[in-house]
Amino acid sequence: METQRQVVDRLGSAFRSGITIPEQFRQTQLTKLMSMIKDNEERILDALHKDLAKPKFEAVMSEVDIVINDLHHTIANFTTWMQPEYVSKNLATKLDDCSIRREPLGVVLIIGAWNYPLQLTILPMIGAIAAGNCVVIKPSDVSAVTGALIAELIPKYLSQECYAVVCGDAEETKALLQNRFDHIFYTGSQPVARTILQAAAVHLTPVTLELGGKCPCIIYGRVNIEAAARRLVWAKFFNLGQSCVAPDYVLCSPATRDALLPAIREVLEAFYGKEPQNCPDLSRIVTPRHWTRLMELLKRSSGKVVVGGESNLDDKYIAPTVVVDVAEDDALMEEEIFGPILPILTVESLEKGIDLINRRERPLALYVFSDESSVVTTVLENTRSGGFCSNDGIVHMTLPTLPFGGVGASGWGSYHGRWTFETFSHQRACMLRGWALERLNRLRYPPYSDNKLSWLRWTTSSKGSCSLM
Ligand code: NAD
Repeated sequence: METQRQVVDRLGSAFRSGITIPEQFRQTQLTKLMSMIKDNEERILDALHKDLAKPKFEAVMSEVDIVINDLHHTIANFTTWMQPEYVSKNLATKLDDCSIRREPLGVVLIIGAWNYPLQLTILPMIGAIAAGNCVVIKPSDVSAVTGALIAELIPKYLSQECYAVVCGDAEETKALLQNRFDHIFYTGSQPVARTILQAAAVHLTPVTLELGGKCPCIIYGRVNIEAAARRLVWAKFFNLGQSCVAPDYVLCSPATRDALLPAIREVLEAFYGKEPQNCPDLSRIVTPRHWTRLMELLKRSSGKVVVGGESNLDDKYIAPTVVVDVAEDDALMEEEIFGPILPILTVESLEKGIDLINRRERPLALYVFSDESSVVTTVLENTRSGGFCSNDGIVHMTLPTLPFGGVGASGWGSYHGRWTFETFSHQRACMLRGWALERLNRLRYPPYSDNKLSWLRWTTSSKGSCSLM
């Protein structure tokens, strides 16, 4: 069996051979990737069910279709994205051919997390292929069944010279990271991101980080409470709360909380029935270890459980749970919850809510629910987050035309659609010059003089470019 080093070297040789450069090659690989997903949809859904008990409906939406839609969008557009982008010029460069070329980076490594194991490895791979890279995928060992399926299918459908899957746990990932890659695209937790950065620093490898954090949901002012409860419950308990963009906590006034609680109870029963544990539309916590972490958080909280709270370790089940009277320094506010527990914090005013958010790390997503557009605008303009969505949760990330990523501690860089292509491309600044305008060029050669300097400044100024372009 090939060692990790041999895999990386093999892909490096393929990249240097130039095989991934022609548009036709990339097109063929993307089309084969589409066939891989479509031919194996049932097996993919089965693997996701084995790993997380993902309901078919959620798995189709958030794993299969999001990948298929991004593939359609990329296949239809990447030829345009590949074209050189011509830039405006000044007088001194008027006769030159000045453009930005999108060039592949080389051999790139994609490390995925377990909560959406197909999406988080294949979605970045689409743009990496379209941009002409060779790719090593490292699926999460936690979602091992889907990881093994990806490892089986990729070599069957795609060029084995250019694309490889390496499975393994933390130790094997650390060993893999000792190899030199041209880019590392990491999705996962903030603590592991530090390990990734340390390994990348050795080779000065650029890194994209798709991390998590606590995504706030402010519910303020006049609100359609029934619709708000439906959208909040759906976004929070999709994948049983194990989404990086799930609303992590709610901020609202005491009056809104009192109206929201009965609405949430009603929606939960309408969605998942009186016995949610028997409902096939709820996933399960991925492992007993993750279940224990969540139950510990709940135990340490000083808040009051007003909805749910039931759990079963053998079934890796935790009921959709709502906790009120949660203080800002409560255990539930220490770290990303990443499970079906929703703390509700009350705030005296919108400004106090915004201030609470701004005192914490910048979140991956920020949600505001309100009928009042002034509330939405106030929150949008006075906060920072990777993405923003009003009156809904999660759905902003389903559009391949919007960049998806964090800011600050919630991540560096972005992807989806064209943004993935850009992430895996080097924007090479190219100036193709001839020998013309040598008289103008002489202005910059010694012997220097004030007169030459003032002419030179004019030919290279943006004023020169505006008046003469
Ligand atoms: P995880 O445990 O699956 O780890 C992620 C990857 O890192 C896996 O491939 C794993 O094998 C590898 N890994 C784990 N420990 C390692 C180590 N010590 N050294 C090197 N590699 C190691 O997933 P996780 O970290 O539990 O993922 C959950 C986190 O991911 C949450 O914080 C969530 O918000 C975030 N997330 C972010 C996004 C996003 O797009 N921004 C999407 C999904 C999840």
